[in-house]
Amino acid sequence: MPNRRNVYLYYTPSDELEPKVQELRKLGRKYDFQLVKNPDEANIIASIGGDGAFLQAIRKTKFREDCLYVGINDGHLGFYTDFDLNNLERIEAGMQASGLEVLRYPTLEVTVDEMQSFQCLNECAIRSNIIKTFAIDVFIDDLYFETFRGDGMVVSTPTGSTAYNKSLGGAVVDPKLKGFQLTEISSINNNQYRTLGSPLLLNKDRELVLKVIQDGNDHPIIGADNEALSIRHIHELKIRLSEKEIKTLRMKDNLFLHKVRRSFL
Ligand code: NAD
Repeated sequence: MPNRRNVYLYYTPSDELEPKVQELRKLGRKYDFQLVKNPDEANIIASIGGDGAFLQAIRKTKFREDCLYVGINDGHLGFYTDFDLNNLERIEAGMQASGLEVLRYPTLEVTVDEMQSFQCLNECAIRSNIIKTFAIDVFIDDLYFETFRGDGMVVSTPTGSTAYNKSLGGAVVDPKLKGFQLTEISSINNNQYRTLGSPLLLNKDRELVLKVIQDGNDHPIIGADNEALSIRHIHELKIRLSEKEIKTLRMKDNLFLHKVRRSFL
């Protein structure tokens, strides 16, 4: 990381965390890293916490392509956090740039009603916010595909496939495969309503359009990773794999399959 020296630490301060963060700051100074107070001045953004903190750090700093994002956990190994605040030796090895690899994670680009756009690293979820089901017409590349009725749908990236998507029976996807996956949340399947009923993995150049059928329950919640959007009334979500990727650092001995095995097997 010779050209990247301005580091912003993204974390929620606490009495328990502060002494460990001080040690991390000391280590950073030893290797000539500048700790900046404004994320706009940073070219490395390090989150301290779990996967949720990493997702928030990226969202709050607007998915910057000119930054390297680093996830540092505090004892709970996650999917986006390769470093442990309780293992400074490993972080020091990272600062010396030995055994490190830069990874590029694909993101989703979601456009709401042709007006507002946002990115997601894990997934975009559309869910009923009341106890009633709601309905969505699904189009793929302008082709009408199915009409869904149920609790909602989730569109996930490859790295997000091990999160909400997996709980819905979606496939775990190797992040080397560039594409995105559509999964259903409790679809109704009977003689009146019919959906595919299984996860659908789409290639990176597909465009998915989810049109909310305006039948009374047409105020679903839209979730972008771990944040709910404040949009009240939507007609249509257009979703595709974004050209913008997130750059992150990984230790070479912590591959995707290591993480899957460590977390689930
Ligand atoms: P949270 O506190 O509800 O934790 C969710 C769990 O998901 C945590 O253990 C986190 O480490 C894990 N996680 C997050 N991203 C992951 C990934 N890419 N692969 C594997 N595990 C992952 O919320 P949070 O920590 O803010 O995480 C937000 C994520 O939670 C959302 O993006 C969504 O994927 C997931 N989520 C899951 C469910 C579910 O499984 N039923 C429901 C809602 C949200």
